[in-house]
Formats: sequence, C-alpha cells, structure tokens
Amino acid sequence: MTRRGRESRVESQEREKGGELRVESREPETGEELGIGSPEPSGAAAGSFLALESRRSDLDFPSERDSKVRCHNLEIHVSHGCNLTCEQCSHFSNYGFRGHLSPADARAWLGAWAVRLEPKWVSLLGGEPTLNPALCEIVAIARETFPRALVQLVTNGWFLHRYRELPDVLERHNVRLELSVHHGSEQYLARVAEILMLLLEWRERKRFSLHVRRSYSRWRRLYRSAGADLRPVADGDAEAAWEACGSRDCLQIHEGKLWKCPPVAYLRLTAEKYSIDRTAWGSWLDYRPLEPGCTDDELREFLARGAERVCELCPANPEAMELRSPLSRAGKGGEER
Ligand code: SF4
Ligand code: SF4
Repeated sequence: MTRRGRESRVESQEREKGGELRVESREPETGEELGIGSPEPSGAAAGSFLALESRRSDLDFPSERDSKVRCHNLEIHVSHGCNLTCEQCSHFSNYGFRGHLSPADARAWLGAWAVRLEPKWVSLLGGEPTLNPALCEIVAIARETFPRALVQLVTNGWFLHRYRELPDVLERHNVRLELSVHHGSEQYLARVAEILMLLLEWRERKRFSLHVRRSYSRWRRLYRSAGADLRPVADGDAEAAWEACGSRDCLQIHEGKLWKCPPVAYLRLTAEKYSIDRTAWGSWLDYRPLEPGCTDDELREFLARGAERVCELCPANPEAMELRSPLSRAGKGGEER
C-alpha cells in the first residue's frame, strides 16, 4: 500500500477550539526514536552497540519505528451491541449483540499489535461504544498504546450525556469525537440537535476535535435479506467488490487477532445468534485472521492482499439504498428483500 512510506516524520493532530482537524508533522523526540524505557543491555559489546546506535543518523540504523508496518486505520469494537438498528450494518451490530471490550482486553489486544503496526488512525467504535461503561478508560488505553496515531471515538451520540468526564478525557488524550448520523428524518435529526447542543457545550469548556458525518447519505447494500435468512450477494468478482468496498481501510482487532474488514470479523456473531446458511457464507466463516505472533513477512503479506476470496461474496456494484429509520425495531433481524 502506498501509505507505507518511509518518511521519518510523525503525524499528529493539532486541534483548535471550534476549528477543523489539522495535521502537522514533527520529528520524533529522542526518547521515542530509541525506545527509551526498555532495559538497557550491559557489557562491553553492548557498550559499543549503544555508542554506535547513538550515531544512528550517520549509520542509518533501523529505528524501532521503522520496523513496524504502516497501515491506515485500525479499528476495535468497544461494544458489540448498538441501540440503533441500521439495516445492512457492516458490523452486524443491528442484531442486538451483547458484549463489551474490557480494559484488560483492550490493553492486551491493542498492545500486541502496537509493537507490530504503525496505524495513522486508531478508531474506537462498535456497535455503539458508549454502551460500554469502561469507555473513558479504554480511550485512555488507546492513546497510551498508540501515542503517535490519530485516535478517534466514533459514536451515534445517543448516550454521550452519561459520560460527564468524557470531554476532559478527549482533551487530555487528544482524541477526536466523530458523530455518525444515521438518518435524515425529523425525529432522528431532533435527537441529533440535542446531541450537538451537548457537544457544543462540552467544547465551550474543553478543547477536542469534533467531526460530524452523515453516514446515511451513502448507504449501500452489502448482503441480502436479514437475520436467519441472511445471504451474501456473492457476485463472484473479488476485484470489482474490493474496488467498490467501503471497508478497505477498516482493519479490525477482534479477539486479539487482525481481521481484513468488519463483515468478515463479525459475521460469526450473527451465525451464533441465527442459524444462517453456513454453506453460503463458507469463506467468511472459515476465514483465518492473523495472529499477533505472526512473522513480519506474514503481516506484510496480509496487509498487501487487496482483493481475496472472501471478497467474492460481496457486491461488485453495491446498490445505493435509502436507510429505513434505525429507531425502528424492524432492523433487528426483520425481513428485507
Ligand atoms: S449506529 Fe447503525 S451502523 Fe452504526 S453500529 Fe449501530 S447499527 Fe451499525
Ligand atoms: S470481504 Fe472484501 S469486499 Fe467484502 S467488505 Fe471485506 S474487504 Fe470489502
């Protein structure tokens, strides 16, 4: 992927109250570049090594940072469930799954990949992440684990009012809040207006970046039917499906492993809840995610794959669709066409 350039700059976000997200570059500080904090080797040979290493710029030593593989966006479910029921949710979170990410798992799973990957973005989402009472702790863990990444919390905003400490956490850990809007009806937008009032009030007090995305305006059909009748579109054209795919930059960390995209990662949760046609979904249910103990070559190969067999189950030309209100219960496994 072209995003894996070899520039030594660090991208970080600078936020201005009421302003747009801006990206600036800064040189890594010495402590970051040398990984200070790990035990120093000792002995004569180690002394020579450290002396030489301190001349890294003369000798073009590979830094700890250079040994990581770059990727654009790494996502993790803070909660599998969601209060909304958007049909065709690419995370299948409209099916009312249960389960939250624990702070211990967040630390272990993110930490295992933080030593291998250098993502530009880390996205905390779901499902709806504000359903997880440990949300603020997980935001802090994500920032601590990926100090150089742009970290964002993606939410539909419904339960933000439950987290009085969140504006402070967002400011302290330099985390962007992305408000994802899922319908254009008057009823839905009235609620969004209330949420935005809350967020603007937060921004009177705290400095954090806020982005509002009209997600419903580009909704696409990803599969057929729903619930137990869920079937893949299966156009059989992996290349075309990959080209049209909206999840190309949505690597998932799920159960500690790395997955290509949300649908492949979370179809298993759907299969546990409904008796879907396992034969039709074979390549997704059989998909083997990458283990954190993989080799560097395996990791690079995984990230460079592009279209692969699982993509044959996706639509080659995803059909634009008007999203029915996600406030209705119908999206929870209700019949679609
Ligand atoms: S808000 Fe809609 S699209 Fe987002 S996770 Fe919930 S059901 Fe899925
Ligand atoms: S299987 Fe391939 S085309 Fe389908 S969502 Fe995943 S990455 Fe995209």
